[in-house]
Amino acid sequence: MEIFEIVYLIGFTAATIIRSYYGLQFKRKEIEHSQKENPVVFIGMALWGAVLILPFLSIFSNVLDMADYQIINSLRVLGAFIFIGGLWVIWRSHVDLAGNFSPALFIRNKHTLITTGIYQKIRHPMYLSFFMWATGQALLITNWLAGPLGLLAFALIYLFRVEHEEQQLLDHFGSKYRQYQEKTGRLLPKFMKN
Ligand code: SAH
Repeated sequence: MEIFEIVYLIGFTAATIIRSYYGLQFKRKEIEHSQKENPVVFIGMALWGAVLILPFLSIFSNVLDMADYQIINSLRVLGAFIFIGGLWVIWRSHVDLAGNFSPALFIRNKHTLITTGIYQKIRHPMYLSFFMWATGQALLITNWLAGPLGLLAFALIYLFRVEHEEQQLLDHFGSKYRQYQEKTGRLLPKFMKN
């Protein structure tokens, strides 16, 4: 097994622990409002689920070998940094979003608008962390199915969800969320003041 594959396995374990810890704190009875998702999001989620598991097939068997590709090691090292950075962002966004986290588009009955910590400059750090994760994975696990497919999968989730999520927060928090949108960027900080 290569060191890059070990990095993936350790990262996968760490992310599973973080997601399970915060996921278990989520209680369905606390949902106040639920927003419909675009059906494409479910396709993206199914693909994303597969892409998280495919590295195990790529590492522990040779069934995916025909989809392997090769890249220089320095790119794989870069991938390890992006991947570990993504893990840090997953963790920070869960800590800052705390009890407002939900696995789908739910407003909880004690929902508060978070505009501090990692949310101070960007509105969707958790989604940023999944893009970082997928980019890191594509460089660490050099297989078209176990790697870059993740970017496509998460792009589908993000592109078909983010407008609905922001509309739901706007409906709930009104001008407070509007002002927050003006000061922040979606995935990267807003550099231009307008
Ligand atoms: N899109 C965010 C959060 C993902 S979790 C991110 O990428 O970091 C999804 C839940 O978070 C949704 O129920 C949404 O209503 C809620 N949410 C998103 N931004 C929020 C914020 N700034 N404050 C409180 N809740 C937020």
